[in-house]
Amino acid sequence: MSNKAIKRVGVIGAGTMGNGIAQTFAVSGFEVCLLDVDRSALDRGMAAIDSSLERMVAKSVIGEEDRQRAREAIDTSLSLDSLKAADFVVEAAPENPELKFSLMNEIDRVCRPEVVIASNTSSISLTRLASCTSRPEQVIGMHFMNPVPLMQLVEIIRALQTDEQTYELTRQLTLRIGKTPIPSNDSPGFVSNRILCPMINEAIFVLQEGVATAADIDEVMKLGMNHPIGPLALADLVGLDVLLAVMRVLHEGLGDSKYRPCPLLVRMVDANHLGRKTGKGFYDYS
Ligand code: NAD
Repeated sequence: MSNKAIKRVGVIGAGTMGNGIAQTFAVSGFEVCLLDVDRSALDRGMAAIDSSLERMVAKSVIGEEDRQRAREAIDTSLSLDSLKAADFVVEAAPENPELKFSLMNEIDRVCRPEVVIASNTSSISLTRLASCTSRPEQVIGMHFMNPVPLMQLVEIIRALQTDEQTYELTRQLTLRIGKTPIPSNDSPGFVSNRILCPMINEAIFVLQEGVATAADIDEVMKLGMNHPIGPLALADLVGLDVLLAVMRVLHEGLGDSKYRPCPLLVRMVDANHLGRKTGKGFYDYS
């Protein structure tokens, strides 16, 4: 399929990432079908899109007509069958390998043969995801950053099987939605999480060893390194469970003890101190 022929995009999963991805495609002039297994997740996803679009209008990033057009371009569905009409698919279901393996297989069975299937996975091997389909050369990683409407980067991850046409199509499509594609090979954590997560993990070691307080560690990285947010505050934002899962993927996948998750991180996840989403992490949000 040529890039220009892509008019309708299927987005699977209406959560944090999926609704941002759907919005971004809709604002860029694509028709979007946003799918989820849960009606309330779709409702929450559409509400998040509505408030994000309103903020964009308030800040004059888009006009009122653009907002309306984008809103009308998105429809929702609870059935994978609606992917039959999609020209390109982005999978943004939860980061659970078994779930994604079977979902890739189902998406493959529904989509037309020429359609490219992209996954927004943060850490699962694209090569394994591609192997779950009958079109491994048309599977690719499209790793958006959170919050999607604001973040410029999309890491484009080539599975071992991904062909050049699929890579080029995905790269061009990323440019069409106003983002910057950066290629990465399929390796644990790709580039972004391979660098970011060990940095945060190291900040947790520094805290565990009593070198400095959480607030001071964050201040050092903000004031000294010009980071917009400190590593521990960022950990709370990302979710400590997500961070631990990525560290485990790096540790297992690269087999180097330098990626071992900090014991304090493991204990905090055991205590359900996951950050903002549970009201407590390195900081208190209650
Ligand atoms: P989320 O939990 O917020 O959303 C996932 C959505 O998928 C939920 O609404 C859920 O109901 C739905 N879902 C579950 N099973 C499904 C199925 N079989 N079919 C369709 N929908 C289904 O998750 P998220 O944070 O948006 O993450 C989605 C993906 O994006 C993951 O692979 C994650 O690793 C990746 N990612 C997340 C971030 C982040 O900061 N949250 C950043 C980059 C990439």
